[in-house]
Amino acid sequence: MSILYAFLVISALGLLLGLGLAFAAKKFAVKKDVVAEQILEVLPGANCGGCGFPGCSGYAAALSAKTAPNGLCPPGGAAVAAKVAAILGIEESGTSEKMVAFVHCRGNHELSSLDYQYDGIEDCNAAALLFKGDNTCKYGCLHLGSCIRVCPTSAISRDEKGNVTVNPELCIGCKKCTLVCPTKVIRMIPARGSHAIACNSNDPGAKVRKICKVGCIGCMICEKKFPDSGCKVVNYLSEIDYGKPMTQIAEAAQACPTKCIVEAK
Ligand code: SF4
Ligand code: SF4
Ligand code: SF4
Repeated sequence: MSILYAFLVISALGLLLGLGLAFAAKKFAVKKDVVAEQILEVLPGANCGGCGFPGCSGYAAALSAKTAPNGLCPPGGAAVAAKVAAILGIEESGTSEKMVAFVHCRGNHELSSLDYQYDGIEDCNAAALLFKGDNTCKYGCLHLGSCIRVCPTSAISRDEKGNVTVNPELCIGCKKCTLVCPTKVIRMIPARGSHAIACNSNDPGAKVRKICKVGCIGCMICEKKFPDSGCKVVNYLSEIDYGKPMTQIAEAAQACPTKCIVEAK
């Protein structure tokens, strides 16, 4: 008889617990964000952080909650923005053109001078703490590859002479490299830009000539002789306005005395 009572009590307790759990599951269930899930499926899944969120799921949730604008995903570009707009039932907007990183310096160990021999850890920010790096030019690339180590697609490489360059085919435009670079010599340019200025120096031309063989000397040949090159010299440094016609950029590159207008490929 006592076995029967025990069995009944345990069964009753089991039933009560089961009902309690079923009630709690219903009451405290976390609602699925179906829209966020749909958006997550069309995002590239690179989790690069280029949108400003820790990963694709964070951006998908923000898009679904309408707390972030469409078009912030650099790897996805216009194609992904269009898919997201279709899911959200909104107009396509905020989609900027594809940008890629470019290192605005070709002053490698053979072509530019050094102030001292840096022998510390291989990190551009560590090197920059010592007199802004070992380069005599304080605007250039420090060649220690901090950008290389943060790039999620291995788009950045360094050759045996120290030149650090970006493969635009592999760059997804996440900007991580631009954030880690202490001299801001690596910056974004439009992927369609055929040329870029491979110099970042605001030193006067006379000084640049002394310390680097391939720096911009601010001579203004590009701007004055080739008004349709897109080049404009500001603070001794030529910059390309990619919004302007660039029909003469190849001629300007040819005429540049230091050949610091280079193909951005
Ligand atoms: S581009 Fe910037 S982060 Fe990259 S190697 Fe040069 S100085 Fe370092
Ligand atoms: S090169 Fe820079 S912007 Fe391009 S994928 Fe690498 S870290 Fe991102
Ligand atoms: S021609 Fe070359 S060196 Fe002269 S300002 Fe233009 S980019 Fe600089």
